[in-house]
Amino acid sequence: MATSSVEQRVYNFSAGPAVLPVSVLERVRDEMLCLPGAGCSLLEMSHRDKRFLEILHGAEAGLRDLLSISDDYTVLFLQGGSRLQFSMIPANLLRGSSTAAEYMLTGSWSKKAIEEARKEGPVNVCWDGKSDNYASLPAAGQCNVPDDAAYLYYCSNETIQGVQFPSEPECPQDVPLVCDASSDFLCRPLDVAKYGILYACAQKNAGPAGVTAVIIRKDLLPRGSEDLPGYLQYRNHAEADSEWNTPPTFAVYVMGLVTEWLASQGGLAAMETLNRRKSQMLYDVVDQFPQFYQGHAQADCRSLMNVTFKLPNDDLQAEFLSQAAANQLCNLKGHRSVGGIRASIYNAMPEAGVAALADLMRDFANQHA
Ligand SMILES: *Cc1c(COP(=O)(O)O)cnc(C)c1O
Repeated sequence: MATSSVEQRVYNFSAGPAVLPVSVLERVRDEMLCLPGAGCSLLEMSHRDKRFLEILHGAEAGLRDLLSISDDYTVLFLQGGSRLQFSMIPANLLRGSSTAAEYMLTGSWSKKAIEEARKEGPVNVCWDGKSDNYASLPAAGQCNVPDDAAYLYYCSNETIQGVQFPSEPECPQDVPLVCDASSDFLCRPLDVAKYGILYACAQKNAGPAGVTAVIIRKDLLPRGSEDLPGYLQYRNHAEADSEWNTPPTFAVYVMGLVTEWLASQGGLAAMETLNRRKSQMLYDVVDQFPQFYQGHAQADCRSLMNVTFKLPNDDLQAEFLSQAAANQLCNLKGHRSVGGIRASIYNAMPEAGVAALADLMRDFANQHA
């Protein structure tokens, strides 16, 4: 039988599904055959079981504590990934609307969200980063969002390009701000009160694939029209406490463990400090060798989570990836649509892994520059 051990683990820079804390994986392993006191594995347990409801409510409480989410918001655990949210958001907030939804087009994921929204109603692209190949983000005052817009949509961290909003864009007071935070959820504190909807699939920075957390302001729930398919109606999930149908029980459980782990690490402010330090290690090397490493993002919107850069040519890039793999630094190839290197350094990526990558980058540039 194949054995599995922590020693076999590489530094995994995958963009998602991505690295999880070892202590969380160990806990999952320890509780796999039998959830303590439950007589069976969580995988075998009814989603109506009292023990699972404790887990579901624990995961919600974990998120509420970390992000100080008030009672004005409902927290939902849904399936379908972030891409279903690309459709659910306009289905609930745009279908039948006479005014347009405003979208910021900042990279690959917001582009896909726009395509889906257009199927539901009028969309206006209020900013488009095309002119510099999605390396920058709108500055204050660059988007004119009308006071009666259906909502303003943005992606806080474009996972493929590696550009991240340093803070929320301006949004007129009565316009709901909607955010795809899939790849930077829980990487730093945020002010949930600024949002109408904030959502994130778990498999980047918050857990395994299968669950998407949707934080929605309660006054938006009545907006979904009656004729929506049941699953797409946020109200149904809110009224049923995320049990309108069977929720992804295992993914919710692991996400709950991740929130416990984050609290034990000092919460999101501590995470932000660590994430700044980790990402700076890599950006420092990019800046030290500007002729050799070409960073994609402009300096003011560099992502804390996905560090993207190119080497001078494809041969050097292939050689870099093979040296990285020989050093247990894995899954660094950029997304197929943009090429280059992408180091995804989510919360659970150990600082030592980032330091090892920074060392390799420095050595490699010294050898080849
Ligand atoms: C991964 C990702 C998505 C897509 O998530 P799925 O769960 O695969 O649908 C959407 N937005 C962002 C920012 C992502 O990183």
